[in-house]
Amino acid sequence: MLPVNAVELRARKAAALPLQAGTDRANPRPAVDRVSRAGLQRPQRGPGPPRARQPAAPAARPRGQPAAPAGDRGPARLHPLETESAALVGFELNERQRDLQQQAREFAHGVLRPAGRALDRAFDPGTFRRVLKALIRAGYTSMPVPPEFGGMGWDNLTVAIVLEELAAGSAGLASALAASFHAASVLLIAGTEAQRRQFLPLLSDSSGGLAAMAITEHEAGGSDILALATRSRRESHGYTLSGTKCFVTNAGFAAFYVVLATEDPRLARAGLGAFLVPPDAPGVSVVRFEDTMGMRPSPVGELRLENVRLPFSSLIGEPGSAYPATLQTLDRGRAFYGAIAVGLARAAYETALEFARKRQQFGVAIFRHQAIAFTLADMATEIDAARLLVWRACWLMDRGEDYTKEASMAKLYASETAVRVTTDVLQILGKSGYSRDETVEMFVRDANALRIMEGTNHIQRIVIATQL
Ligand SMILES: Cc1cc2nc3c(=O)[nH]c(=O)nc-3n(C[C@H](O)[C@H](O)[C@H](O)COP(=O)(O)OP(=O)(O)OC[C@H]3O[C@@H](n4cnc5c(N)ncnc54)[C@H](O)[C@@H]3O)c2cc1C
Repeated sequence: MLPVNAVELRARKAAALPLQAGTDRANPRPAVDRVSRAGLQRPQRGPGPPRARQPAAPAARPRGQPAAPAGDRGPARLHPLETESAALVGFELNERQRDLQQQAREFAHGVLRPAGRALDRAFDPGTFRRVLKALIRAGYTSMPVPPEFGGMGWDNLTVAIVLEELAAGSAGLASALAASFHAASVLLIAGTEAQRRQFLPLLSDSSGGLAAMAITEHEAGGSDILALATRSRRESHGYTLSGTKCFVTNAGFAAFYVVLATEDPRLARAGLGAFLVPPDAPGVSVVRFEDTMGMRPSPVGELRLENVRLPFSSLIGEPGSAYPATLQTLDRGRAFYGAIAVGLARAAYETALEFARKRQQFGVAIFRHQAIAFTLADMATEIDAARLLVWRACWLMDRGEDYTKEASMAKLYASETAVRVTTDVLQILGKSGYSRDETVEMFVRDANALRIMEGTNHIQRIVIATQL
């Protein structure tokens, strides 16, 4: 069961190790440079998340008044943090975050939007692999992975800022990244140094790029993680896994899987293990791809495990550590899926705003009709509110503070906002919105997935309610 009582909550808190990604200062391959080299077109800047204003020039010092001593210049910092999230206090991004945001926006516009649209129409493995290579080159597949494991080492707030931009290009492709970060997160929370060194570099390797987290099953193991039926048997050689996982994002394209299995369902959390499974291990196969309503640019498939023999070193962490590590991973992922929802909602809103300013009815642009203008005003307000919830959750994560409730609030509100906004956008576009020639109907389909993924919104409300 998900945490619905005080015992669970205490377990969560006890297990809440701060997942503090390092900085990327030492990383010799900044995404900015690599994306710039790709020579992407610079799109016109549209409405979007806040960018820092240039600091105002200091007021002229009155004649005769002495300059303030060096230590008195500027306000004192209340929280002198190492992390870049400190900038959130002023709701201003720092220069590096603004650069990454702008580069991600250009990448999303030039690469992800056309590819995402094509993959939504018809999933083509070749196209997906080409986009994946571009994502790897830009550093986006390893955003939260510390530099010592070959990643970019961006803090959680920066990852969320970039994910919003990428999702504005294609929520489906952004969700492939977020799903992959789950697997990385379990390793960072509970994995051994050897496991991290072996598997995390695969996320920035040109032949890898993605991982997958396999929890969900057909019969059980949806919202109730401890009810899953995939079994692990401890034997002389190591572990043997048997079972079938469904709705595994990145199935068939993952460089490694993190698979949840139980030694014995009666042992509940003590029996749960998270296992590192190579895709080419004998007995591992992707037997089908789900024909999903939305998020179609990301491959979502069924993973079969038939007596898969794994070494002892494939168990992540200690026996019993999988459950708290999974809960913490899901919490963290909720903030990231919130960022994806904000990006998707924003892309839809921008489409509607542009349309409403151009489309004439009854002699004026429809934006001049109050019903349309008010709907757009509500959208803009809700998108900003959702973004602030996402940023707060990431800010707490980066400070190493408890973020369970805030991450659930961010995911809940942002995904509900995405559904409301995309549905209203469809209405504003009228027949054009209803046509499959436009992207709006894809936005609606993608948004509805976000209410289910990463724990349904019922589950988010349970998590929030237990902490009230
Ligand atoms: C596009 C997509 C990608 C996905 N990718 C992955 C992935 O990479 N890996 C993975 O493991 N899974 C993945 N999933 C699966 C996803 O995590 C599950 O669908 C989700 O956790 C819900 O499980 P379920 O669908 O089995 O619903 P169920 O748990 O069967 O729930 C059915 C309904 O009952 C409600 N419900 C359940 N329990 C309660 C309760 N206690 N109180 C009130 N209501 C309740 C739910 O909210 C839901 O409305 C993906 C799903 C989608 C749609």
